[in-house]
Amino acid sequence: MQPNDSLQNWPSGQGRWADVPPEDWKNWKWQLKNRITSLAQLETLLDLSEEERAGCELAGKKLALAITPYFFNLINPDDPEDPVRRQVVPQGAEHTTAPEELLDPVGEDEHQPVKGIVHRYPDRVLFLVTDRCAAYCRYCTRSRLVSNAQDYNFHPELETGLEYIRNTPQIRDVLLSGGDPLLLSDNKLDYLLGELRKIPHVEFVRIGSRIPVFLPQRVTPELCDIFRRHGPVWMSIHVNHPNECTLELREACEKLSFAGVPLGNQSVLLKGVNNNAETMRSLIHRLLMMRVRPYYLYQCDLITGSAHLRTDPREGIEIIRSLRGHTTGYALPQFVIDAPGGGGKIPLNPDYVESITEDAIILRNYEGRQFHYPIRGQVDPSVLSDLMEPAPLPAF
Ligand SMILES: *Cc1c(COP(=O)(O)O)cnc(C)c1O
Ligand code: SF4
Repeated sequence: MQPNDSLQNWPSGQGRWADVPPEDWKNWKWQLKNRITSLAQLETLLDLSEEERAGCELAGKKLALAITPYFFNLINPDDPEDPVRRQVVPQGAEHTTAPEELLDPVGEDEHQPVKGIVHRYPDRVLFLVTDRCAAYCRYCTRSRLVSNAQDYNFHPELETGLEYIRNTPQIRDVLLSGGDPLLLSDNKLDYLLGELRKIPHVEFVRIGSRIPVFLPQRVTPELCDIFRRHGPVWMSIHVNHPNECTLELREACEKLSFAGVPLGNQSVLLKGVNNNAETMRSLIHRLLMMRVRPYYLYQCDLITGSAHLRTDPREGIEIIRSLRGHTTGYALPQFVIDAPGGGGKIPLNPDYVESITEDAIILRNYEGRQFHYPIRGQVDPSVLSDLMEPAPLPAF
């Protein structure tokens, strides 16, 4: 059955916190101050399983427990397998490390020329500007540093990062991440974006943030003004399940969009959360309804203690196959694996090319029907050699 994506079915409102004055509820600082951060608090709100209780008890050693009241409301307390619950309520299994798992699964630490800058691709950098988030995702790739439960002691060094970018002219694209950059104060963000904009070789600035999803109240008119002033600033949000698409998130996306911020979404494919085609279809349709273009769908990284959430990579390929051609092309994210050990993002696609012969390329369409596209002449070798040249590695 097709889920019904019409707006009347989207969640909204104060839920369990109906007694809180709306001006508090809508204040992002109130939401942060009233986060659920302990086993004792969580137990007053949910019937926890033994697994979850064990997860909460150990969370302080791995990745902090924190859930904003707003986001907590999206959990159906009667469903122990709720897809929002699985993302933010710790489980004991997080403390079991499978042999293939790694603390730094995508090899970021060895690509840091200065603390907080991950320079893997020649022309773009990841700039880690904080180690804090509004809530913590149990499968976080950066759980080694995020929330500081593992004593990594990441201290964002904005000046050192800015200086590295100023002095490295091949950087044309800066991606602010963390932790969550939108937890920085307005003043800090204004300064940071302003400084980046002054660097002539920085053409493209983007922010990766789950704040619109965990804490849409943070998207204030003042914040939107900052983006308007320093634009174009692009943003990738992080929604995994259609239940996270609320009227509040939609409004936040609308404000960002009207401030000139093009929006993309990054999802992680997670077992028991979104690893089926119907859930994914509903999610990507709702994203388009919020002016958000699905960008990447990630295979879950081999982060320590994530085995219970990881899927078989073939599931992702099959999910994409079941959607491609059957829905709006704009709705389709690129499925990727961020290569273990630091190879960067590698696309995984269903194969539509059956074979290539001397005179035709033989293709299958989305319905499985076969088509021939004739080939005449030869590929210009000068085109190929340019495209195939391995990119020079950044020097540091
Ligand atoms: C994901 C990522 C980027 C950005 O990659 P795009 O494919 O351009 O979105 C840049 N640097 C690092 C280290 C990354 O992990
Ligand atoms: S919001 Fe991003 S950085 Fe923060 S815990 Fe979730 S995945 Fe990790």
